[in-house]
Amino acid sequence: MSTPDSHLLGPVEIRDLAAELDVTPTKKLGQNFVHDPNTVRRIVAAADLSPDDVVIEVGPGLGSLTLGLVDTVRRVVAVEIDPRLAGRLEQTVTQRAPAFADRLDVVNIDALKVTAADLPEAPTALVANLPYNVSVPVLLHLLEEFPSIRRVLVMVQAEVADRLAAQPGSKIYGVPSVKASFYGDVTRAGSIGKNVFWPAPKIESGLVRIDVRDKGWSREARSEVFPLIDAAFAQRRKTLRSCLSGIFGSGAAAEEALVAADIDPQLRGEKLLVDDYVRLAEVRKASSSD
Ligand code: SAM
Repeated sequence: MSTPDSHLLGPVEIRDLAAELDVTPTKKLGQNFVHDPNTVRRIVAAADLSPDDVVIEVGPGLGSLTLGLVDTVRRVVAVEIDPRLAGRLEQTVTQRAPAFADRLDVVNIDALKVTAADLPEAPTALVANLPYNVSVPVLLHLLEEFPSIRRVLVMVQAEVADRLAAQPGSKIYGVPSVKASFYGDVTRAGSIGKNVFWPAPKIESGLVRIDVRDKGWSREARSEVFPLIDAAFAQRRKTLRSCLSGIFGSGAAAEEALVAADIDPQLRGEKLLVDDYVRLAEVRKASSSD
């Protein structure tokens, strides 16, 4: 008997599609395809989408998640680097979810290079099972490029999910944690086992949700804030005074700026919230325009 979700892809359909396309999943492109409808339902539910959303999906692969999205939102723009997969997606959605096929646009491009000019409409949400080797750069690129994105729900390696959602003071709090929190509130939204994928990866996966928020600073501040974050974590064992001496010209100048921003110069970068880095960038900007 068919169920409301019978259009989703299971192990047999994934195997058949891969055979038809002669696709041998490659590690280089992080090709691990979800063959479990339950996992697709979990991801879509965790994304908490509205019927008006325009979703950008990075790496639709054989269409597992795409099929779970097209019946939920107004439009899905799927960005896939592999031409064989990009070329087959429309047909898969037309065959398995014909009523929603006109909601799909496929763009055959590298997600690290995609710009607003490549998409038919500005996305309001990013939902993706990201290719693991480029997951953080893709996430940060899309947040930078598309300020229209208000919600993110991505599947990444469990360890990367932990790092993205880490809080100051923890050992795994680092550059991805601070940069992601520049855009909004970052939380872990669940764990995913290895067996929902074909081929099964060696490591567990995790879901990360970002609720994009206006945090009281402009997006343009990014180009001043992110270099400070990079420098502060470049030598994890050193104090902020020492890590930032290059950027400020000397240890004394770094100390002066940190004190002006109400930050203890003897702290290490891992103790600061993104708000602290933003304040420091403001001090630096104000003093350079004096
Ligand atoms: N969404 C599918 C699923 O859940 O079964 C596939 C996910 S698989 C982990 C990652 C997908 O991203 C693959 O289809 C791969 O070809 C694609 N990909 C890898 N690097 C990419 C890039 N730089 N830009 C766009 N797509 C990429």
